[in-house]
This record gives sequence, C-alpha cells and structure tokens, in this order.
Amino acid sequence: MMATTHGFVALAVVAPVAVVAPDLATPLAVGAILGGLAPDLDVAFVHRRTLHFPLLGAIPAAAGAALALAVATPATAGVAAFVVGAWTHAASDWIGGGPEFDPWTNPTERAVYDHVRDRWLRPRRWVRYDGAPEDAALAIALGLGSLVVFEARWIEGLILAGITVSAGYALLRRRIAAWAGPDR
Ligand SMILES: [Zn+2]
Repeated sequence: MMATTHGFVALAVVAPVAVVAPDLATPLAVGAILGGLAPDLDVAFVHRRTLHFPLLGAIPAAAGAALALAVATPATAGVAAFVVGAWTHAASDWIGGGPEFDPWTNPTERAVYDHVRDRWLRPRRWVRYDGAPEDAALAIALGLGSLVVFEARWIEGLILAGITVSAGYALLRRRIAAWAGPDR
C-alpha cells in the first residue's frame, strides 16, 4: 500500500472518535497521520521488520486507547492515535502486497515480520501492490471520507494533497517501475 493509503487508513480508524469528540479532532489527526507513516522509517534498517509490529503492536494500541478513554486530553488522544495508526499500518502491510518495487517481474513473499513467531508473514495481496488501482481507490475513498470529519484547513489541505499524490502515483506506477529497470 502507498504511504498515503496508510495515512488515510489511520485517519479512518480514529474518525469515529473525532466525530464523538470534535475538540480532539486535531490531535487525533496528527497522531494518526504520524503513526500511519512512522513504521516505514525502518526502510533505513530492516524494512517491514524493525518498526513493524503486526501482532505485538496491538498491545500498545490497546493500552494507548484505554489511557485516552480514561483520561481524555489532547496529549493522550494524540498518543493513542499514533500507536493505533502504527499498528494498523503494520497489520495492513500483511493483507497488502510485498515491499517489492517491481511486483510484475520481482515479487517477494515477505510482507511483514511477525516478531511473536520470529518469521516473515506472506503477503495476502488483497491490495496487490502499492499504487495498484485498488490501492488508489481505497486511498481516495478514505481520503474523501476523512474530509467530512476533519475540518481544520491545514488538515484538509494535507488530505487533498495526499489524494492528488495517490492518484498521480497510481496512474504512473507501471511506468515508474519500467523506467527504474527490472533490477530495482
Ligand atoms: Zn509498512
């Protein structure tokens, strides 16, 4: 899935909370976006392993959500949205494709690392690869939906930019892989 899709999925997960507690919408959005993007910083280490916790991530996510429910402040809401977003990202890498840049000639079977059983999980490919038509459709649908909930100007701007980038990337995806050559 695209980074933008991860961000929009995380926004969609916290959106119902933002509807119930609109005064917390901004910290929820900031936490969700950062948490939805953060795991991929491990591209500098072992990508989809160092900062991806598809199973164990549920523990901090549940703890963060419980704390925010008990003591609802902008800080606890933001932290909860971050850990929930990061866990959702790792879990959705499992149901998506592998991290390969060229899924047509160079697919991989390593979706995301399961630290509990110490092995790689195989990609489910519900979303076949990042920038696939279904990936773009998901990103655009969730992005448009979150526009209804998050009304701060700059968040709306960020969402619209994310939708534009998602659509452009998906349109050019095959060509980008071809330009980069078969060995990327
Ligand atoms: Zn990832």
